[in-house]
Amino acid sequence: MYVVDCHRDGNVVSDSVIDIQNIEKSYFLGDMEVPILHGIDLCVGKGEFVAIMGPSGSGKSTLMNLIGCLDRPTRGNVLLMGKDTRSISDNELAELRGFEIGFVFQNFNLISRLSAYENVLLPTYSNSKPDIDTKSRARELLGMVGLEDRMNHKPTELSGGQRQRVAIARSLINGPSLILADEPTGNLDSKTSNEVMDIFSSLHRKGCTIVMITHDPEMEKYADRVVHIRDGYIENN
Ligand code: ADP
Ligand code: MG
Repeated sequence: MYVVDCHRDGNVVSDSVIDIQNIEKSYFLGDMEVPILHGIDLCVGKGEFVAIMGPSGSGKSTLMNLIGCLDRPTRGNVLLMGKDTRSISDNELAELRGFEIGFVFQNFNLISRLSAYENVLLPTYSNSKPDIDTKSRARELLGMVGLEDRMNHKPTELSGGQRQRVAIARSLINGPSLILADEPTGNLDSKTSNEVMDIFSSLHRKGCTIVMITHDPEMEKYADRVVHIRDGYIENN
């Protein structure tokens, strides 16, 4: 267990899952530094459902990749579950990512030659908790997202909403405490979007911390809190 406090609007948030302190991210074109994120602070408490909203190009995915330690900030620090991600080893970081974080991407990122069931099992090949029966868990999760009769279908044999549901089941296979979703409904119609959001809501009710990027104001209603990002700045927090 971890107990970490962070501060928001002058108030202490205990038990923070994400604590980002003054992070900056730049890309470099040759010698030229192109700043994308300009000193962002973000604190997410355990069990919160936070939506990050902002126009295209505002830095949402860049921020999400930093939160998930898929990329490193140019300056500043990312604390995840109280761990300073600057000072932990690559192995520890890979474990943290593999066990504690479930990623869901806009374009699903499924492997086309594998079945839905095999896609869900994929993260367990590199990391899996020894106490989890991964095969039955994969079946359970596919059942939870309503795909028990589609387990052996390949992604091309599934609709967009079904593919996203496979991706959600995959993100949950290692029992993460934090779900990071980058525009999970960006490629879905509104009915399917609501179905996918119902799955996130039910995970939230079970205690998962969720950070979801969206640019659809309709999705705000699912979140406890909405953070707006524009041109690499957070407008409210
Ligand atoms: P969003 O997800 O909000 O649409 P991104 O975080 O993907 O925005 O991108 C923010 C800005 O950073 C954009 O101007 C984009 O062109 C730039 N950018 C993103 N990735 C790279 C990269 N690898 N190299 C250079 N610039 C990048
Ligand atoms: Mg993006």
